Amino acid sequence: MDEEQNVIAEVSHELRLPLANIKLLVETLLDGAIDDSEAANKMLLRAQREIERLEDLVNNLLSVTPGRQFEAIEKQSVFLSDACDYAVSSTSELAKKKQITVTCHLQEGFCIQANPDQLNQVLLNLVENAIKYTNDHGSVKIASGIADGSFYVEDTGIGIAQSEIPKIFKRFYRINRNKAKGSTGLGLSIVKHILDLHGAKITVKSTLQEGSTFTVEFPS
Ligand code: ADP
Repeated sequence: MDEEQNVIAEVSHELRLPLANIKLLVETLLDGAIDDSEAANKMLLRAQREIERLEDLVNNLLSVTPGRQFEAIEKQSVFLSDACDYAVSSTSELAKKKQITVTCHLQEGFCIQANPDQLNQVLLNLVENAIKYTNDHGSVKIASGIADGSFYVEDTGIGIAQSEIPKIFKRFYRINRNKAKGSTGLGLSIVKHILDLHGAKITVKSTLQEGSTFTVEFPS
């Protein structure tokens, strides 16, 4: 199978499950469950979650479909603080809901040679994951690293087992597939793809129940 057929097969598989669930919920409602308002309400909420998952999948698909990927990148000098502001403001609702503090510790004038939209997307995906996979009242820190062009996103979250680390960058891979609500398994594959386009590297250090650090190194 070539890469394109591979993606189509994976995507069809991922779309099928939420669709099957919505179909079953609607059929059950039509078969009479609609008359039990409490049960009906629960089913509609489940259907709504499945629809949101489909929406997430479709929104992310353009980034992983061969031929549609952002191949031609234009690099420029970008202040990492701008990408941080974007990531922090875009995730503020989620962070507030979980009472997680997100802080930025950047060297003055710290710049990265990158496409600004793609850098925003990388940081947003990493910060969003850091918040998602951290329990309430935890913290997330974005900081510039020691080397030029290096920065990291650190969380006090659930952590990742060593054996899982190489797998999490694969398309649609989720560690706790069954528990993974509001998750598509696409975020890190998009991050990896963007970083590959920039000749940048990503490494992960993690301890279960303590937290994870995702370090990104752009060529200086
Ligand atoms: P998604 O978050 O939509 O499932 P990702 O590709 O962003 O997809 O991440 C893949 C998997 O890696 C997640 O499902 C989760 O199991 C794991 N993961 C990613 N970031 C973290 C993190 N900061 N802490 C713990 N696990 C993480």
